[in-house]
Amino acid sequence: MSTPTIPKFQTAAVIASAGAPIEVRDDVPVKQLSELEPGQCLVKLHCTGVCHTDLHAALGDWPLKAKTPLIGGHEGVGEIVAIADNTVKSPVKVGDRVGIKWLANSCLDCEQCRKGREQNCPRAELSGFTVDGTFSHYVVSWVRHVTPIPANLESAAAASILCAGVTVYRAIKYSQTEAGDWIVLPGAGGGLGHLAIQYAKTRGLRVIAIDTGAEKKKLCEELGADVWIDFKESKDIVADVKRATGGEGAHSAVVTAVVPLPYTQALDYLRAGGTLMVVGLPGETTLTASIFFTVFKSIHIIGSYVGNRQDAVEAIEIASLGKVKCHYKTLPLSDLKGTYEDLQNGKIAGRVVIDYRLQ
Ligand SMILES: [Zn+2]
Ligand SMILES: [Zn+2]
Repeated sequence: MSTPTIPKFQTAAVIASAGAPIEVRDDVPVKQLSELEPGQCLVKLHCTGVCHTDLHAALGDWPLKAKTPLIGGHEGVGEIVAIADNTVKSPVKVGDRVGIKWLANSCLDCEQCRKGREQNCPRAELSGFTVDGTFSHYVVSWVRHVTPIPANLESAAAASILCAGVTVYRAIKYSQTEAGDWIVLPGAGGGLGHLAIQYAKTRGLRVIAIDTGAEKKKLCEELGADVWIDFKESKDIVADVKRATGGEGAHSAVVTAVVPLPYTQALDYLRAGGTLMVVGLPGETTLTASIFFTVFKSIHIIGSYVGNRQDAVEAIEIASLGKVKCHYKTLPLSDLKGTYEDLQNGKIAGRVVIDYRLQ
């Protein structure tokens, strides 16, 4: 195979400092093969999804601070164009199509990594946060952490599976539910929610979708939601969930909200032994739970943070089988700034994928 030529400069969306506006610049250097460290690869991106987390990174409103200047983005798909010299036992090769997820690298040797919680590795590198991400034509990543993309899954269709998909997939996987159980998905018509409905259905779960509006209702029902609750029309969400589940309540809820109410509601509508999966990442909001009822109802409260390499492989595999499809629209990189504004105003239905093949 001929070695792809790597340009010296590229176009990328750069944030100079926390809270600064995005600047799309065409003079951003591309790391050359000689600059890669062993274990690293250079990926020429086809596209990248845009995630709410990118907005937090840009605004700097998390307890965790991003590097600056920063190139955000962590839902990239592209082709490996270089692998660092002296890289041993690489599971991928030049020419392979791979995904870049939030967890860019971890040590693979610490207790967290050995236990499969690679995302909790104290030496974890995060795409578009502690290292430059995918809002650029080329990105540096790590051969042992990129996710191979099957041939039958188009790059743009794979992009948002790498963060939104992996996040909800793992949360459902650890929700302590079995086929036939009831799972509640607040925000079911949104970017994470619409993927969560589909992953829940692949596991044989019965889905209660909570969101609002005719458009989201239609989407949720098309994707297989068994029960729809419009939170603006419902007088009592807890009562509605209980009624839908024969009075006992749901077995689990996967809550991605950044405000407290959906979490406290979940604790009320879960049946005894139920599991609340806590997935949202607001900067400061706290979760209040009744100690009495948490004990009395044997409730599990579990935090679930993105996913490890295996979760990513599984989430992508299910998507490649056609069982989970992301609803997205593609835009050029020049529209990233507008996309951030729309995200901030809650105006994005499904996901936005920046496609570098559009010019
Ligand atoms: Zn994300
Ligand atoms: Zn580690």
